[in-house]
Amino acid sequence: MIDRYLAQFPGNYLFAEVARRAEAMRLGRPGVRLVHMGVGDVTLPLPEAAAEAMARAAREMAGEGGFHGYGPEGGYDFLRRAVAGDYARRGIQVDPEEVFVSDGAKSDCMGLPAMLKRGARPAVFDPVYPAYLGGAALAGRAGEYSAETGRWSRVVYLPCVPENGFSPSAKGCRADYIYLCSPNNPTGTALSAQALKMWVDWANRGRRLILFDGAYCDYLTSGAPWSIYEIEGARTCAVELRSFSKGGGFTGVRCAYAVIPAELERDGCFLGELWRRRQAISFNGVSYVTQRGAEALFTPEGRAQAESRVAFYLRNAGRLREGLEEMGLEAYGGQDSPYVWARAPEGMGSWEWFDLLLERAGVICTPGVGFGPAGEGFFRLTGFASAADTQEALERLAAIC
Ligand SMILES: *Cc1c(COP(=O)(O)O)cnc(C)c1O
Repeated sequence: MIDRYLAQFPGNYLFAEVARRAEAMRLGRPGVRLVHMGVGDVTLPLPEAAAEAMARAAREMAGEGGFHGYGPEGGYDFLRRAVAGDYARRGIQVDPEEVFVSDGAKSDCMGLPAMLKRGARPAVFDPVYPAYLGGAALAGRAGEYSAETGRWSRVVYLPCVPENGFSPSAKGCRADYIYLCSPNNPTGTALSAQALKMWVDWANRGRRLILFDGAYCDYLTSGAPWSIYEIEGARTCAVELRSFSKGGGFTGVRCAYAVIPAELERDGCFLGELWRRRQAISFNGVSYVTQRGAEALFTPEGRAQAESRVAFYLRNAGRLREGLEEMGLEAYGGQDSPYVWARAPEGMGSWEWFDLLLERAGVICTPGVGFGPAGEGFFRLTGFASAADTQEALERLAAIC
């Protein structure tokens, strides 16, 4: 009766295990204040412009003639037009009709592959954002999970390591669709235009599909592409996922969108039309109040407030990266993303280093191997903690490195 893929899914293991070990430490040494540098969620208050827009929308709903029931399944026109306008500012043509508003990029990661046939084979970068594997596994597309190798049998894993600049080659990648995440969680690195062009050509050549996750596009500072649609040919092979979570502080509000170009077609079906049908079947949309809040993030005040928060997280991440390098550690990311990815010292394994850091410094990191087998020997720190905790973590690390 129970779905065996769901039953065997190891997904929750990483963060549950981190919490378990931190709790054991807290109980064992009540005098030590733990500094949490594994935070995977924004921490600063919501941009005021979004809060005010939501308050106004809520009052409007309670007033004469202002009530809104079920909205259009793809999202309200005002938000879809604001999104299209955001692309237009960058010289990218996206029609409001190609924008599909949702309650989160995670939901879209899970849902979009439902348009593909059961046997479609997924590829992911390794290490990887766990939701991509979750989506494939729950759809029965990932095959069997092996705790020994940490891999699903039908998933193509592309190791993302310093040796290949965290940008694996598309050559010989035998999959039907791939999740590309840039800037990347967990490595904090961004893909170049050249790398993206390679994946676009790979997809167009084999009538494959790219699911491009741009959840951290607002963190880009290096000049790497902001959208897959900056790449020639992307409109015939790529869906772009965007979220207000990390750039707009909306993790607790819930709003995101997918862009599906009108010409994106496979086996005689237009994906945008299929997705509209699928959403109409299974989803009743994002609240009017929430969509008004998201719209406010595109106003000059909303933009400035969101940008100042992103700048704060980036400052923390930049300090972490620099600090680790000063200690002689090999560190990446932090420039285009709130994440810093670093190699554990002296060839230590991810969990071995996690324990040592926790024991001797009272600092909590996220073990790299938890994101995939190629993450073994690495750890992730985030810029989401306070400036004081970020500084404190660096001082404690320096004392043991
Ligand atoms: C946080 C995150 C998201 C955002 O998911 P939401 O459901 O929109 O909050 C998407 N992709 C990656 C890689 C993330 O880290």
